[in-house]
Amino acid sequence: MHCGSSAGRTAGSGPVTGRRADAALARHEQVDVLVVGARCAGAILGLLLARQGLDVLVVDKSRFPSDRLSTHMFELSGASVLQRCGILDAVLATGAPAHQAYCMTIDGAELSSDLVRAEDDPLGGYSVRRHQLDEKLVAGAREAGARIIEACHFEDVILRNGRVVGARLTQQSTPTVTEVSARLVVGADGVRSTVARAVGAREYYRTENQRGMVWAYYQDYRPEHPARLHFHRNRDRMVFAWPSDSGLLTVIAAPPVAEVSALRRNEAAFAEYISASPEITSMIQGADRLGAPRSATRYPGYFRAASGKGWVLLGDAGHFKDPILGQGISDAFRQAEELAQRIAMSGLSPRPLDTALRAWWRWRDADAMQMYWAAYLQGRAGTLPLFEQRVVGLLARDPALRARVTGLVLAHRAAPSSLLSWPLLAGAVGAAASPAGLLSAAASVRSLLRPVATCLIAQARVGRAGSGRGAVRTQRNGTRS
Ligand SMILES: Cc1cc2nc3c(=O)[nH]c(=O)nc-3n(C[C@H](O)[C@H](O)[C@H](O)COP(=O)(O)OP(=O)(O)OC[C@H]3O[C@@H](n4cnc5c(N)ncnc54)[C@H](O)[C@@H]3O)c2cc1C
Repeated sequence: MHCGSSAGRTAGSGPVTGRRADAALARHEQVDVLVVGARCAGAILGLLLARQGLDVLVVDKSRFPSDRLSTHMFELSGASVLQRCGILDAVLATGAPAHQAYCMTIDGAELSSDLVRAEDDPLGGYSVRRHQLDEKLVAGAREAGARIIEACHFEDVILRNGRVVGARLTQQSTPTVTEVSARLVVGADGVRSTVARAVGAREYYRTENQRGMVWAYYQDYRPEHPARLHFHRNRDRMVFAWPSDSGLLTVIAAPPVAEVSALRRNEAAFAEYISASPEITSMIQGADRLGAPRSATRYPGYFRAASGKGWVLLGDAGHFKDPILGQGISDAFRQAEELAQRIAMSGLSPRPLDTALRAWWRWRDADAMQMYWAAYLQGRAGTLPLFEQRVVGLLARDPALRARVTGLVLAHRAAPSSLLSWPLLAGAVGAAASPAGLLSAAASVRSLLRPVATCLIAQARVGRAGSGRGAVRTQRNGTRS
């Protein structure tokens, strides 16, 4: 869907019309779509649905501007959604430069390349700290006509005959509970999604992260022209850096989970870890660090059942992957764009809506599954297995494949599997033809079995979604009718 288009509205179940200014909620409200969560996922969905002429209420327990734990880099595919939504310029007013190239090294293999752009693409991906990024998204959604209420908590869904028909909300400003009737309730409320809990969405393909993140901001660093994304892996160390808004460079260390806390507290240990990348060390030589490093230790990956009767989960509420490849924000934008189109096309009548949501769930899993496993595999602690080092070495030797890794796969424009071919794998096995190399190849193939199998199984499961899987399991007191 292209933002601003009004296509896709069908007759029959005419939506509640009219745009109301943001204000305190009345005791009873009626809207077309209630979105819980107003950041990357919720704000973009609210913006797009409002542009379709739907009556959208977006609530968030936060007040904006406010921060979120994230290293906030988004790739070209996410930037293009913002461009189509007409809010990229507002985001760029934060001073974030376009990342037009990648500087990537893995154990000495050079995978650097320019970004691969289509003619109508933005200049690149960007990095904008979340207190600024999310505020722009919220402003864009308001501008488009979505009604956004801050400091407003989703408490529970309202069910009728097993269908979600609305939600109960509370506002900080008033002790009363508001009952909102909605044809669709969207949980865009992040990893700890209360909506997911309320509808009993089951979880699948859970993974535990083996590395955490410690990051700091540097000002007056040595900038590059054009700005580049830095990804460096040196034996067991992983270090990243990207130019961000307001003239800052975000520098990230990704040590094993057990080392996060020591690295965050010990300035010398952080600097020593970063020294694994001479490129980044040289950029921050003589630069000032802004404040203390921040860190995140535990962020398991998962998929959750994405839809049921009258509800859908968007963004982190429905799926989270290891942020080591920086995909979550773009995923949320792209998911919102795809979902908005399908909601609008359904006309919001229950049956077509449920079908559209199931189809979107299938799309989401297909869209995310390969990158989910790629991020998990990249995020394993320790050194890269010998066989995978050989694969990287072969990728690095071919300029076309190099450009594909950085310019297309990381930008979510080609699947990770598109990097692998039988000749390449055979070459890697041949190069590793020692007992240790062959053992490593066998171990790598074994570690790929689950990812490959789950890609296939997920498709099949979602195909059966019509049987009621993922539908609301719990009926709550006082919500039956
Ligand atoms: C350490 C770390 C680093 C990361 N780095 C990157 C990166 O560099 N690039 C990248 O693309 N991704 C990164 N991510 C992932 C990225 O931050 C998320 O994928 C992204 O924020 C998802 O957006 P969202 O809108 O789905 O959820 P969120 O941003 O979590 O927003 C959810 C909103 O829901 C609201 N909410 C929650 N419960 C309720 C309730 N009951 N009632 C009302 N409102 C509620 C919250 O207040 C919040 O505002 C990182 C994640 C982590 C943990």
